[in-house]
Amino acid sequence: MIIAIASGKGGTGKTTVSVNLARALPGQPVFLDCDVEEPNAALFLRPSITHRQQVGIQIPQVDFDRCTYCGRCAEVCAYHAIAVVGENVLIFPQLCHGCGSCTLNCPEGAISEVLHVTGVVEQGHAEHITFGHGILNVGEAMAPPIIRQLKQMTIPQDGADRVVILDASPGTACPVVETMRNADFVLLVTEPTPFGLHDLRLAVQVARDELGLPVGVVINRDGIGDEGVEAYCASEDVPILLRIPFDRRIAEAYSEGILLLDALPEYQDLFVQLFQRIEQDVARSGQ
Ligand code: SF4
Ligand code: SF4
Repeated sequence: MIIAIASGKGGTGKTTVSVNLARALPGQPVFLDCDVEEPNAALFLRPSITHRQQVGIQIPQVDFDRCTYCGRCAEVCAYHAIAVVGENVLIFPQLCHGCGSCTLNCPEGAISEVLHVTGVVEQGHAEHITFGHGILNVGEAMAPPIIRQLKQMTIPQDGADRVVILDASPGTACPVVETMRNADFVLLVTEPTPFGLHDLRLAVQVARDELGLPVGVVINRDGIGDEGVEAYCASEDVPILLRIPFDRRIAEAYSEGILLLDALPEYQDLFVQLFQRIEQDVARSGQ
């Protein structure tokens, strides 16, 4: 089962929920930090990294002995990543999506493809957890290919019985959609404030309404703010699966990079119950 953990808004405690859920699970769960622009789950899980691989996208490379500067490649590029200027062909790797359209459409066969490294994927173990994260190089804009490769490289193809936790980046943009793709369930972490509610609505829209995935909510810092999130979840029939109270001890553990389950072991059972609720909802949604 693949569980994507997301939050429309940054700073809601998404990583706290993700790493502690992985830690609470029995067996050999897989945990992937898909927030490749700012991965920080390793600070809490402290994995031993055993494998590191550069990853990237295939970008065009022009053979100027064959190129006639016809401009066809620039015409077909939807991302303005290639331009023909006089007798030169300029390529902008940071804009390229690696779609291959320019290569296919070059009438002279003058374009080949080369790997443009955009980041790395690291894999290892943190106690019983198989760990993986992606790191996007500074200055690169294309997070989804790294997320895609991280998932391909780390999620066991034969592991139907392994639970996979995907920690998405904040927001609802392409990297989050890429993380949610093929998930069985999306757990949305929010806080009971007007900002939290605003971004929760957007996240539900993407996960449930656009991707058709079952969703559930964790309310973090329960007790602050107002009743807006509660009312919204009730009206939209979105289950609230866990409430984590506003507690100074939780903030202190987070600031020191200590897992909540280590600081407050009484949360172990709550996270196991959270997983059981998710299992039930996934089973119900598949009926
Ligand atoms: S389509 Fe091919 S031949 Fe035409 S400008 Fe581009 S690389 Fe050169
Ligand atoms: S691979 Fe696609 S995105 Fe990249 S330059 Fe060619 S057409 Fe543009």
